[in-house]
Amino acid sequence: MSRTPAPFQKITLPNGMTYEQPTGLFINNEFIQASNGKTKPVINPATEEVIANISAGSAEDVEYAVQCASHAFEDTEWATQDPKKRARVLFKLADLVEENLELMSAIESYDNGKTLALSRGDVGLVVNCLRDAASYADKINGRTIDSGDGYMNFTIKQPIGICGQIIPWNFPIMMTSWKIAPALAMGNVSILKPASATPLNALFLANLCKKAGVPAGVVNIVPGSGREVGNAITQNPKIRKVAFTGSTVVGKSIAVDAASTNLKNTTLELGGKSAHLVFDDADIAKTVPNLISGIFMNAGQICSCGSRIYVQEGIYDKLMAAFKIAVENIKVGDPFDESNYQGAIDNKEQFETILKYIEIGKEEGAKILTGGKRIGNKGFFIEPTIFYDVKEDMRVVKEEIFGPVVTVSKFSTLEEGIKMANASEFGLGGGIETTNVSTAIKAAKMLQTGTVWINTYNDFDSRVPFGGVKQSGYGKEMGSEVYNYYTETKAIRIKL
Ligand code: NAD
Ligand code: MN
Repeated sequence: MSRTPAPFQKITLPNGMTYEQPTGLFINNEFIQASNGKTKPVINPATEEVIANISAGSAEDVEYAVQCASHAFEDTEWATQDPKKRARVLFKLADLVEENLELMSAIESYDNGKTLALSRGDVGLVVNCLRDAASYADKINGRTIDSGDGYMNFTIKQPIGICGQIIPWNFPIMMTSWKIAPALAMGNVSILKPASATPLNALFLANLCKKAGVPAGVVNIVPGSGREVGNAITQNPKIRKVAFTGSTVVGKSIAVDAASTNLKNTTLELGGKSAHLVFDDADIAKTVPNLISGIFMNAGQICSCGSRIYVQEGIYDKLMAAFKIAVENIKVGDPFDESNYQGAIDNKEQFETILKYIEIGKEEGAKILTGGKRIGNKGFFIEPTIFYDVKEDMRVVKEEIFGPVVTVSKFSTLEEGIKMANASEFGLGGGIETTNVSTAIKAAKMLQTGTVWINTYNDFDSRVPFGGVKQSGYGKEMGSEVYNYYTETKAIRIKL
């Protein structure tokens, strides 16, 4: 079957930079149109204008990607070569991203609505993630097990095969690298579906993959809807692993589909409603910026956001006064205006969800300390919002809002604070503000969550593993841990 090439579109970014945006699906190292010719408009959330029309894949396109990926995995040396060769490709890719850091940051802000400073941080993490994966490519090895006379045993680590990778819109390029880098380092091949709201940078990266020498079929990027492309990935019988980042609701249905078709290896990075605890002895001047980055960074669209703040009663009044002033000073607006801290909400649907939750909070009787409204009438901007006087069973306290909205509750003892923090079905992030090392470590051990930040928040490093417990999912990304989820351990037992 012949595939129709898809054009590149010249785009001028709001900061004046220009570039050629691939508009097609990236399969077998070519940009092609969807088999049914469909495209979907990509919206600039700061202006609500259409940026580009990007091919929207179908189940048939996923099938084609699987054929190409399967060929690359089974019939080429990609998976079996000296891993140092794969490392070289990943190092090259990291260099190319680094050379394009300013451009890719601008693309990210244009597509997602986050501020340029944040995008630069994200793309910096992409570079680190790729270099880490390159460094690990030949360092993940099995072990020898001497079981005494008559036998010798050893294990080897082998790639899983075709990995289906599905990501959300809040960190489009960072999530792409978190998925692709470890998969490739371990010799797998990938079919990645970006969120349909934010496909631009993944396609730009695809072009860099080709330049870096990633062979055809090893990386395939198939934008499209969750229902069409997402389902085709999770249900495909030749795909052996699914790595998903997104909401808990969708994650559960993916786990079911992945298991019922061919029992795929599955890792899930899902939602959160993380607690950020402030103890009486916290340093207020240092705590306030942490509370802000905990919930208002990326306009609150971070799975690990500290969206429930718990303040010990002795410090409550002083802290809240300082927090209110600082939040009212947050500048919200144009992602390309470097004086803004908070940009736009990524898409209309999410924008409306957040505003709906603000109404729900009011109806439930929560009080607003500051914020609570849309800003302007063009673009998806929302005021940083603090709810206080909340009850722990309110929906705004229980459910993930995924926006610049935080609830504040009071606690008296450490035990009570931890109990309130743990009364959630989620378990992704968590924060502790204290100057007492015993309190810090005690509380960190007691929090039922995958990550705890002490005197910092939403503070990521590619060497530190990240992932959830409870209904925030299973599996880890980054660190040395991620490679466990992209390899199979084979045991070999020899009778002497
Ligand atoms: P979402 O679950 O709606 O979508 C995520 C991805 O899954 C998208 O690409 C979507 O198209 C696809 N999808 C949707 N339905 C599907 C289906 N039935 N089968 C296969 N794929 C399908 O989430 P979102 O709104 O894009 O992102 C926000 C959510 O992601 C929040 O809940 C947030 O907490 C979570 N998140 C988690 C992490 C983490 O690391 N734990 C990181 C970022 C975001
Ligand atoms: Mn967009």
